[in-house]
Amino acid sequence: MRPRAALGIMKILAVFAHPDDEAFGPAGTLSRYALTGHSVRLATLTQGEAGTLGPASRLSRLELGRLRADELRCSARAMHLTALNIYQLPDGRLSELPAEEGLAIIRAELNDFLPDAVITFHSLGISGHPDHRTAARWCLQAIQEQANGTRLLAYGLSEAQVKRIAHRTLVPIPDDEITHVIDVSAYLEYKFRAIRCHQSQSESWERMQTIEGGIESLLQNEHFSQVSPVPPKRSREDSLEM
Ligand SMILES: [Zn+2]
Repeated sequence: MRPRAALGIMKILAVFAHPDDEAFGPAGTLSRYALTGHSVRLATLTQGEAGTLGPASRLSRLELGRLRADELRCSARAMHLTALNIYQLPDGRLSELPAEEGLAIIRAELNDFLPDAVITFHSLGISGHPDHRTAARWCLQAIQEQANGTRLLAYGLSEAQVKRIAHRTLVPIPDDEITHVIDVSAYLEYKFRAIRCHQSQSESWERMQTIEGGIESLLQNEHFSQVSPVPPKRSREDSLEM
């Protein structure tokens, strides 16, 4: 068995494809655990250089990647994360890469950090972005290879949340796959700070704030599906602790 963290302290590794996935994604959960004494590391596989919003029209890909990596550092600080590793796989082309390239990064993260739980995208990718789906696939493969009990939690939006975000086509976690619902209402200020770090993506954020009923009620819970090991029962847990 791999060594566990000190009693009651969890090590959580989040793996995402792009700068901002963590902020618009499970930032409430990452903040909640980081701020309550757990060790939370983020690994982002690309620098987001293929983005199309905001300054993308006037910056080279190199410049945009640098800007977005800086925004990601700001976001990690806003969430009080323990560590951040930014990789330089090609944004928009993860699905075209030999799987070994992504797997090597994720295996190295797992071996170095020895997390109790890994958080990544739901296999449907939330927005359906091929990079998201590829990152989810790589994480599942790397975790299954290790077969040491590390949990893999797939983050996504619930069906009810997706219905409220009517201006975008998003793919929810099917309700019957949700295993964890984390109340992050006390941590939304950290999530919002993290999102505001991603100034190049501010169009997305402005749009979300017009959602009927208010952004706080939309985002007060974050949803996960534990995909490995498959939990014996499909009850819904309200925390990530074992
Ligand atoms: Zn993304």
